Amino acid sequence: MAKIKVRHPVVNLEGDEMAGVIWKDIRSLLIEPHLDIPIETYDLSVSHRDRTGDAVTLEAAHAILRAGVGIKCATINPDAAKRLELSLSHPLKSCNGSIRAVIGGVIFREPVLCPGAPTLVRRWTKPIVVARHGFGDFYSAAELAVPGPGKLTLRFDGNDANGKAISLERTVFDYPGPGVALAIYNLDESFREYAQTCLRYGLQRGLPVVFSTKNTVLKLYDERFKKIFQDVFDEQFKVDYEREGLTYEHRLIDEMVATALKGEGGFVWACKNYDGDVQSDFVAQGFGSLGLMTSILVARGGAVVMTEAAHGTMTRHYREYQAGKAVSSNPIASIFAWSRGLAHRAKLDEDSYLQRFAMELERACRETVGAGMMTRDLAQLIGPNQPWLTTKEFLNQVAARLDLALAHDGRREAPPPHQLDEFVSTHAGQARSLLGRRPSGPKGRAQLGAAPP
Ligand code: NAP
Ligand code: MG
Repeated sequence: MAKIKVRHPVVNLEGDEMAGVIWKDIRSLLIEPHLDIPIETYDLSVSHRDRTGDAVTLEAAHAILRAGVGIKCATINPDAAKRLELSLSHPLKSCNGSIRAVIGGVIFREPVLCPGAPTLVRRWTKPIVVARHGFGDFYSAAELAVPGPGKLTLRFDGNDANGKAISLERTVFDYPGPGVALAIYNLDESFREYAQTCLRYGLQRGLPVVFSTKNTVLKLYDERFKKIFQDVFDEQFKVDYEREGLTYEHRLIDEMVATALKGEGGFVWACKNYDGDVQSDFVAQGFGSLGLMTSILVARGGAVVMTEAAHGTMTRHYREYQAGKAVSSNPIASIFAWSRGLAHRAKLDEDSYLQRFAMELERACRETVGAGMMTRDLAQLIGPNQPWLTTKEFLNQVAARLDLALAHDGRREAPPPHQLDEFVSTHAGQARSLLGRRPSGPKGRAQLGAAPP
């Protein structure tokens, strides 16, 4: 069968350890046999980042901005022990943090739901997409060790909305003895952008959006965030949401945690920075395995996307691999990094063949698990006697199903409505205009069953 010719490049970001091994297998077994695609590769393995003084990470980030699509393997975020183990000479920053500093955007984490793979929270039958605000709060806080008794004040010197000089000051606490202090900040503009990105994403995906804060305690800080989110919804999204039968609401974070656990899923959970950090791990585990958790960074109004698995490099599994043992790491989230990245490429290029390939790749993963063939992490959820495959055996099964699906071409029925399909189709116009490209062909779901040339 002829390969699908893809016109524009994707940026491939290579990584470390077990994730890096699986990454190469995914390319050779699932991508390269079917796609004739320009792939710009950047080696973000920790040793290469170290050799380049981390310049390669910045180059990669700018390449993603140019191409509109980055597909990233997990990378080591070295701590002191890792620096010693690998004899690293540079104090490398978090790879993802460096990339985000260049392209900005919001991270959405979402589980892959596979029939036959039970979730740990059995009620969750629909995805919960956790969004995390990535600016300010605790992650850029100013901390102070208070040595003894004294007064702590919060003071602002600057201008008011009309440009007039102003000073604001309030007493935080009268310390009777030693302790600690912390100040955090945020920006209206960052709140606004976050609200827009989350609400646009909910609309694309056909999912209601819930935003959670602790506005009962932070009556000014969180209340401002809540108000801006509501204003953005009322002014820019309300009509579209009503038309699509979707909802937006704000909830107290405590109530939201309880509601999420009681429900069946099926919503975008827009979180503040710290809540998103914590709740994304809670949700990931609730859905069963880190190997099913995908992560997508949506930037520049949806025009630029970087996809990856939410898990790390799986050091423990890599040690087993190095010792020559059979490894059963789950490659699904890494495969979905490819399928979602390629789907974005398809959306930008209005390429229905590539779009269909991305859907078939995801379908092949789900059907393989549905047929009872899975890696150990999923098998353990079913029970101790459930048989499991090694990573390589699982990948071979997915490859066989994918080959079959693509070979069927026109004989296979058009795929049913699918979350990727919605993700792909909705934002094509806007993304294209942001990148200054013209549409180059017909679009729409009707084409999805068409045979590649
Ligand atoms: P990890 O790589 O996510 O793995 C932790 C454990 O979670 C594994 O040992 C395994 O549990 C389970 N797990 C994760 N992914 C799995 C999969 N696909 N299939 C089956 N089980 C899976 O976290 P880590 O070991 O703490 O971190 C290793 C390195 O990754 C660190 O250097 C860290 O900085 C980096 N990291 C990178 C990223 C990124 O690039 N986005 C994200 C997180 C961490 P069992 O051992 O019980 O099988
Ligand atoms: Mg976390």
